[in-house]
Amino acid sequence: MKRWISFLLAFSFLCLAGCGAPTVGDVGTSGQIFAMDTVMNLTLFGERAESALESARTEITRLEQLLSRTREESQISMLNAHAGDGVEISVESDLAGLLAFAKSVHQALPGCFDITIAPVMDAWGFTKDAYRVPGEEELAELLELVNSEDLLVDEQASTARLARSGMELDLGALAKGFAAGRVQAAIQAEGITCAMLDLGGNITALGSKEDGSPWRVAVKNPQDTGTYVGVLSLTDATASTSGGYERYFEEDGVRYHHIIDPKTGAPAQSGLLSVSVISPDPLLADALSTALFVAGEEEALDYWRQSEDFELVLCTQDNRVVVTQGLEESFRFDGEELGYTYEIARR
Ligand code: AMP
Ligand code: MG
Repeated sequence: MKRWISFLLAFSFLCLAGCGAPTVGDVGTSGQIFAMDTVMNLTLFGERAESALESARTEITRLEQLLSRTREESQISMLNAHAGDGVEISVESDLAGLLAFAKSVHQALPGCFDITIAPVMDAWGFTKDAYRVPGEEELAELLELVNSEDLLVDEQASTARLARSGMELDLGALAKGFAAGRVQAAIQAEGITCAMLDLGGNITALGSKEDGSPWRVAVKNPQDTGTYVGVLSLTDATASTSGGYERYFEEDGVRYHHIIDPKTGAPAQSGLLSVSVISPDPLLADALSTALFVAGEEEALDYWRQSEDFELVLCTQDNRVVVTQGLEESFRFDGEELGYTYEIARR
């Protein structure tokens, strides 16, 4: 009984207006996991939901141990510890592929995305919740260490290394998206075709609801996260949102958030309050939501126009919600009363 209550609670948390409650005939389960510095809520339907949830837990724990930079024994910590000493570190092929992917995003959106940002994240105190505002000179020095070109990855040999001493990796921008993809594969292997995975703001909708209608996912109002600017209908897709509101501190009346512009070493000031990327690929969605938040509206839309595999919801500082054409039918705008105007960006 208790499990059913928490299951229904999780379900109502994820689903909004228009989403039917599960019927008595549905077989499902839900679970909450704290990992990767965030709360994850998984809701699975199907006869084997219980055992699939266990597989999901196991997979998330494995990935946290692989990707964390605060766990000494993780492969990321090994890479960081050996920065600049020339030793090739053997990594799991999964991780070699992920590092190569992160480099490709860095190359596709120069100056926006860089997983070697760790020394700068540390300087702002985000890593240990010991917040401070670093000086310009300090940031300029640390930025010398930030360059994904000096992360050398050999996917065939499954090895990697950081070329210069002092360099460090931080996979915070894409670890949850990567985990979502792996969890999705793990539960699909157990026959699950219907699930909602909320990995700390990365929401993956597997399949559609039992009646064939899409899952509904709210896009939060970045200026008041208890409200939402609209609702997305999703089937077999992930919505990943990056926003300055997710993690920040204030000093002398100024707000400093956790998404850093690798060009300046300071929190990105791109004119965007949040970026949601909707894609069938959870890893792409997560990486791009961070990168395009730094890029800003114009570059984000230019990049979207050259691509086929994702759509966007942008909330701008001047109170506009900009949605790309592919979402025209599947996004319901609810932001008017919150003071937002609505625009559709076309190709
Ligand atoms: P997300 O919540 O997915 O947007 O990721 C934000 C996290 O990514 C931060 O907490 C950092 O760990 C990391 N990060 C911050 N800025 C960048 C950047 N420009 N490129 C890559 N990773 C970043
Ligand atoms: Mg991200």
